[in-house]
Amino acid sequence: MQRLTLKNIFFRALAYLVITAVSIAAADNPPAFDWPVEKDKKYQISSTFGESRLDHFHNGVDIPGAGAKVLVPKTGRLLYRINAEFTPGEIPFGGGTTLVMDHGTHWSGFMHLQSVAENIAKQPQLAVGERIGTSGNSGHSGGPHLHFFIFDPHERAMLNPLTLMSDLYYRDTKPPEAKDWGVLLPDKFASINPAKSFRLSADYPVYIFIQDHGTGRERWGVFDYRVSLDGKEAIAARFEKVFFKGDAWQLANGLAFEDIFFRNYYALTSKVRRAKKVLIEAKDLKGNSLSKAYELQIQQN
Ligand SMILES: [Zn+2]
Repeated sequence: MQRLTLKNIFFRALAYLVITAVSIAAADNPPAFDWPVEKDKKYQISSTFGESRLDHFHNGVDIPGAGAKVLVPKTGRLLYRINAEFTPGEIPFGGGTTLVMDHGTHWSGFMHLQSVAENIAKQPQLAVGERIGTSGNSGHSGGPHLHFFIFDPHERAMLNPLTLMSDLYYRDTKPPEAKDWGVLLPDKFASINPAKSFRLSADYPVYIFIQDHGTGRERWGVFDYRVSLDGKEAIAARFEKVFFKGDAWQLANGLAFEDIFFRNYYALTSKVRRAKKVLIEAKDLKGNSLSKAYELQIQQN
C-alpha cells in the first residue's frame, strides 16, 4: 500500500497523462542530457535518485540553490507548466512551479522553481543551454533547490538522471558506509548492535542504515545494494529506473518502496533471524563500493 502523499498523487497523475494524452514515439538512441543548472561548484547534487523519502522513492535528483539558472538539458519543447500561485495548498502536485519538457522519447521535469522565463511556451523548440527559469523553494520543499527528473513515457518509468547525463557534474569518490541496525517490532523500531548477541522472538524485519558520501559529508542514497544471508541472496535493489505498474512505483525486479525501506533504513529482510552470516554490498554510481560481513549471534526465542 502506498500512501496518498502529494508526490504520489503527482506521479499517478503523470502516469495517467501519459496513457491518455501521449502518442508514444519509437525509442531512439539513449538520450544524453546536459546538466540542468548553470555550472558552478555550488550547484552540485544534494540528493540522489532512489533515496528514501520516508514513504516513496526519490524520483529525481536535487540540486540546491536559490535563483540558480535552470537550463534546457536537451533540445525539446515545453509540454506543460504549473504555476505555484494558481495551486493553493500545493494542490495538486506539491512540486510548486513546475515545468515539464518533451524531448520526443523522454520528458524532463523541473520542480520548485522560483521563476519561469517569459515566452518559452510560444517557442516551437528550446535549445540546449537556454534559460527556462530559476530554482527556488515553491511547493512542498524544505529549502531552495531544483528537483530534476527524467521520465520515459514509453516504459512509464522515472529514470535515474545521473545515468543519462552527458556531463556528470557531481563528484563521488567515497564508498557508501554501513551504519546502525534496527528491527521493526510490532510496537516500535528498536536499534540492534549486530556485534553483540541479541534476541529475536519472531521473524521481524531487520534493517540497516547505509549512506553514501560524495567527497565529504554528503548524505546520499546508494545506487546498487544487495544482501546475502548465509551465502544466499536475500534482497537486491538497483536504483536505475522506477516503473509505474499497477498502482505503485517499483524497481525492475518488482520491489516496491516498502520492500526496501523502513524510513531511510535499507531492508535486510525478515529472514535475518535464521541467518548466521550477513553480507552487505552497496555501490554508488561511480562504482565506489562497500562490502561488509557480519557474524550474528541471535537468540531465537
Ligand atoms: Zn527532489
